[in-house]
Amino acid sequence: MTDTETDNATTVTISPGITITPAMQDYLKAVYQLGEMGPVATQQLAEALGVAAPSATNMAKRLHELGLLTHAPYHGVTLTPAGRQAALDVVRRHRLLETYLAEAVGLGWDEVHDEAERLEHYLSERLEARLDSLLGFPATDPHGDPIPRTGADLAQGPTLLQTPAGAEGTVSRVSDRDPEQLRYLGALGIVPGARVAVVEHLPFEGPVRVRVLTSGNARGKEHVLGRVLAGAVRLAS
Ligand SMILES: [Zn+2]
Repeated sequence: MTDTETDNATTVTISPGITITPAMQDYLKAVYQLGEMGPVATQQLAEALGVAAPSATNMAKRLHELGLLTHAPYHGVTLTPAGRQAALDVVRRHRLLETYLAEAVGLGWDEVHDEAERLEHYLSERLEARLDSLLGFPATDPHGDPIPRTGADLAQGPTLLQTPAGAEGTVSRVSDRDPEQLRYLGALGIVPGARVAVVEHLPFEGPVRVRVLTSGNARGKEHVLGRVLAGAVRLAS
């Protein structure tokens, strides 16, 4: 998305004369999602957003000037409290839309993300509030990702990759990025609410062997998950 694609989209006014365009919203959201472990390199942001490195750097400078993030050359970018709030607002709209599309429209959990990516920029505050109440104020989206309440922050449980062998837990969230990945995990019964045990981490940075303890007829089966897949599934903290 380019900066000029603001027609009809919801721009957010944070103070007189300053609006956050859809491109800015996408950028802030990406910094939020990639930045759990610390500053995010602009190169990493460029890859996540599918833009050229110089435009990712330019956007970092603009958002820095607006006080939404701090940009230290060679260290990457970090959200300011105002930037974090703006990112959470987008995340909230995205996850509410995914829930609406799954529950009210009947789309599959592998279909809702791409639609929500577009719609999140067009949802007014008023419609957002109506969807929220229509859905009964849901706590999580179809992938188990928590829907942030206004002003709240989000806790993260460990991924299967970060869970030691012998431990078990309840799947809380599955990354919504990749529809094929969602279909694959869904077929294995690895969905939010399922109970799983990590059996073994194969040596030399190998895959992770997991057993599904409760999830319909997938129960009791063992699966070997590659590291990307194991990193996409989180257990409740
Ligand atoms: Zn999504």
